[in-house]
Amino acid sequence: MPRIVDLSPKVSQGFMGPPSTNVGVQFEVRTKRNGPAYWQSAQVFMSLHTGCHVESALHCFEHGESIDQVSLERVIGSAVVLDLTPVSERALIDVSDLERAHKRLAEQHESIKAGDIIVLRTDWAQRAIGTPTYFPQSPSLTQNAAHWLVEKQPKCIGCDFFEEPAARDPGWTADQFVVHQVILGANIPLVEGLVNLVQLPPRCQFFAPFYHYAGIDSAPARAFALVEE
Ligand SMILES: [Zn+2]
Repeated sequence: MPRIVDLSPKVSQGFMGPPSTNVGVQFEVRTKRNGPAYWQSAQVFMSLHTGCHVESALHCFEHGESIDQVSLERVIGSAVVLDLTPVSERALIDVSDLERAHKRLAEQHESIKAGDIIVLRTDWAQRAIGTPTYFPQSPSLTQNAAHWLVEKQPKCIGCDFFEEPAARDPGWTADQFVVHQVILGANIPLVEGLVNLVQLPPRCQFFAPFYHYAGIDSAPARAFALVEE
């Protein structure tokens, strides 16, 4: 039986989302008690870009596809893991870094095939997701690195860091969302906020089912992998 590896961080009250929203997860818990009887029902206010989530082209293209237009087939399938570790805070991951990780993959008799899901591993989310440093101190991708990934023709890209270098700092503008524009512009959905990638072999079955919101750019996901023992 394959083992399930949970790739989603636990999200609790106060878990920080992107600095542009800067509120953290706010649960509002309603309860009723009558003698021993108890009832609880919670609501949540948070950015949809908090923790593990899937995003579609609408995130940075006004007429791009919304998250409900991304079928589950596009976020479920055979995945290869590009191991970029060790990666320092605020590192800019360029084509040469991806090439090096791809060579590592070849040493393990694997390579990226068209239609694969590419998972980028830095272990940054493992250390910082949900904290105020996750977004500003994250490693990120260069625009050329994004082009390199798209040229491999993946059906989906997952990562464990915030890939947009310009948006690490306050005052960024929509036109600086260049990495997202390259990837989402190719209609490749992005799965962000992954953890536990250290537990994955070079190839595994990857799943990022997400909440079926409609008409917007993103939805929370509970990504996991199936790993052969
Ligand atoms: Zn996002």
